[in-house]
Amino acid sequence: MSEQPYLKIMKVEWVYNPKYGDDRICKCSHPYYRHFDTYEEMSNVGCKYCGCRNFEEMTPYDKKVINNRVIESYNNAIENGHDMDNKDIWDIVWDMKECDADLEIYDQRFLYKMVEDYRASKTK
Ligand SMILES: [Zn+2]
Ligand SMILES: [Zn+2]
Repeated sequence: MSEQPYLKIMKVEWVYNPKYGDDRICKCSHPYYRHFDTYEEMSNVGCKYCGCRNFEEMTPYDKKVINNRVIESYNNAIENGHDMDNKDIWDIVWDMKECDADLEIYDQRFLYKMVEDYRASKTK
C-alpha cells in the first residue's frame, strides 16, 4: 500500500464541564471554576491562584488533615508564648502561611474559616 498525503491525528481535550459545580473545592483548596480562564471561554489554563492543573475534589479526609495542621500550628504558637486567642485571624493566617510550608499553598480564606471555627469551638 502506498503512502497517504496526510496523517490523521485525533486530539483529546480536557474541557470545562459547566454541570460539574463551579464551587466544588479542589485538593489545592481553590474552587473548580478558578481552574479555567473565565475571560477566555473557560479554557483549561490551570488554577488561577496556584497553577494546579489537575482538579481533584478535596475529600473530607483531606480537609481534616489540613484542619489538624492548622490546629497544631495554632497551639504551637500558644506554647511559644503568642496570645493567639486575641490575635487578629488574618494575622494568624498570614503567619501560618509564612512559617508553615505545609500550609503555605492553601487559600487564605480557606484557612481563615478553619481558624475561625477552631476558635469558636474553644470558647464553647
Ligand atoms: Zn486545584
Ligand atoms: Zn489552586
